[in-house]
Amino acid sequence: MTLVRILLTRPARMSFVSTVFCSTALLLASGQAIAQDPLHAWTGGADPAVLETWVNARLAAEKADIDRLIAAKGARTVEDTLRAYDDAQNELALAGNEAYLMFAVGNTAPLRDKGQELVAKVSSASTDLNLNPEVYRALAAIPLPANDPATKHYMERTLLEYRLAGVDKDEATRARIRKLQDKITEASLIFGRNVADGRLEVKATKAELEGLPEDYIARHKPGADGAYTLNTDAPDSTPVLNFAKNADLRKRMYIAYNQRAYPKNVAVLRSILEARQELATILGYKTFADLAMADQMMGSADKLKSFLKQVDDASRPIADKEYDLMFAYAKSQKPELTTIPASDGGYWAEEYRRAKYDFDAQSVRPYFPYAKVQDGVLATAAHLFHVQFKAVTDGKTWDRSVSTYDVYDAAGSDHQKLGRIYLDMHPRDGKDKWFSSAPIVPGIKGKQLPEGALICNFPGGIEGDPGLMEYSDVVVFFHEFGHLMHHILGGQGRWSNTGGFSVEGDFVEAPSQMLEEMFRDYGILAAFAKDYKTGAVIPTPLVEKMNAAGAYGRGRWVQAQLLYSTYSLQVHDQPPADIDFDSLWRSDFERFSKLSFLDGNRFYTSFTHLTGYSSNYYTYMLDKVIAVDFFSMFDKKNLLDGPAAMRYRRTVLEPGATKPANALVRDFLGREESLGALKTWMNEEFEAKGTKTAAGQ
Ligand SMILES: [Zn+2]
Repeated sequence: MTLVRILLTRPARMSFVSTVFCSTALLLASGQAIAQDPLHAWTGGADPAVLETWVNARLAAEKADIDRLIAAKGARTVEDTLRAYDDAQNELALAGNEAYLMFAVGNTAPLRDKGQELVAKVSSASTDLNLNPEVYRALAAIPLPANDPATKHYMERTLLEYRLAGVDKDEATRARIRKLQDKITEASLIFGRNVADGRLEVKATKAELEGLPEDYIARHKPGADGAYTLNTDAPDSTPVLNFAKNADLRKRMYIAYNQRAYPKNVAVLRSILEARQELATILGYKTFADLAMADQMMGSADKLKSFLKQVDDASRPIADKEYDLMFAYAKSQKPELTTIPASDGGYWAEEYRRAKYDFDAQSVRPYFPYAKVQDGVLATAAHLFHVQFKAVTDGKTWDRSVSTYDVYDAAGSDHQKLGRIYLDMHPRDGKDKWFSSAPIVPGIKGKQLPEGALICNFPGGIEGDPGLMEYSDVVVFFHEFGHLMHHILGGQGRWSNTGGFSVEGDFVEAPSQMLEEMFRDYGILAAFAKDYKTGAVIPTPLVEKMNAAGAYGRGRWVQAQLLYSTYSLQVHDQPPADIDFDSLWRSDFERFSKLSFLDGNRFYTSFTHLTGYSSNYYTYMLDKVIAVDFFSMFDKKNLLDGPAAMRYRRTVLEPGATKPANALVRDFLGREESLGALKTWMNEEFEAKGTKTAAGQ
């Protein structure tokens, strides 16, 4: 049961370095704010004490709901017991969501620190509820409502989560579980902090910087010995790996990057795996991987193994072909090459794309000024999902730069309000540096409408700056908006805990990855991608080049996903004491990549998904399969207006978590997901060329 589910497009890099903030005396004003606005902490002002009072009020309400649940007399019913339980979940969600929000976007350091402290407090309250046997027994005593499948599913899932948490164990065992969980949390935070703090330096001569952008070189000043000091943080290391012409510099950077938390994290990782294995054993599972998949679409480690095998069979020939093309090109430039070392994979892929597709990512930026992109994403979503966005100008938010929209239903005749979204889209001092979609208010039919936010760091938002975006930024915008629409449209049900963010964890990326595919449609792009100076619409040939260059490398991308998925599974699928992390990593690497492995590659020590996703890294791959399969049902000539869009809204998004995700997939596709669409997606570049040649003959 995830309390605060924050959806990140890339690995979570939240640093939980704890800082103590001494709260001032509680203010009278905060009490008034709570009375006025039980759904929004920030309307009381950007004050840590106000936030704390507000969150404590939510936790007190949660406790009152649980007391009411336990005190209910007579036979247990949905109306007394499940309602009280769901009300408690609602209070926890509100408290956790808004504590997290202030941690991520709060405008002062004390407010963010208080947010962080309160996230931990709410998590602990949530663990208490999950291990409360009285609540479990009360819920289990409710007769399953046969004529209300949504409620029935919610109850079954809730009881399963309780059992997976270990609620039915004796008191001593529950105490041990709590201890193990605390240990896992603590070690995971240390693992993440070692990665975040583990910055290594690499020295380079002036000559070795050849190929790097001028503004990159200008940012670095040589020392007295003439050497430049670079570091392993992404802004410094990524350009070196992709653009530096000197292979030795790329290699030194690659090794440093993959050793930034080595050797510290070897022991930390093993301690996490040992605690997880013990937890799995106590709860009756052979391995932690089985436990982590028991409440997911995947179901078990065995099913995952067979899924990975199928995806491997489908992607390997394409990945090999892509590698061979890249290697042939590299050899034409450097005849002495016998292989491409792992440190050169990014560099040669860039070189190949530029030579082959004549596509320069910089050339599309003028067509993507932030404000127009936002209008375009909203217009696309409105059209596709049959909703309407109305700007809210009188609502109070946590920062002046946040824009707020109310979402209305445009499908029915009554045009009822469905919820509210907040777009916090540009960097600010101290704001979270990632791209995510976060729930704020869960929806409960007849009681409260769902609200959610995007927390992003796109260019723009500064007076006089057009905020030109990279095309990859625009894809991220579509992706995050997919999460937000899932939350709003899926949050119209009876229960707070059955919204879009509450679906099985390994389905959660499917609606967002589906929306990414829309970005490649010329008609959708042409509606908003206009030169910020001249207003000229993005030219068709430029979009074609962009799409072709973007489609090259998909087979290798899939193989890389299989590598991470396989390693994540394997370290959670055998006794941790026996694992030789290095040799396992090397053999997996060599199985899924034709790049030559480099000694000293300790990638697993900075693979933060091992803590957050445990064995379930495969989520990205499974949801990609589902997303492109979903997309295949849309009429490519009429993406927005065809019947698939409304059907998608009704069958996939609106049910939220009131059905198993497997059923959502079946309801929309009319069958289970299959690899056919993924194969087409991976082959798109090669297929497109074939078509073009045939047409030209
Ligand atoms: Zn996502």
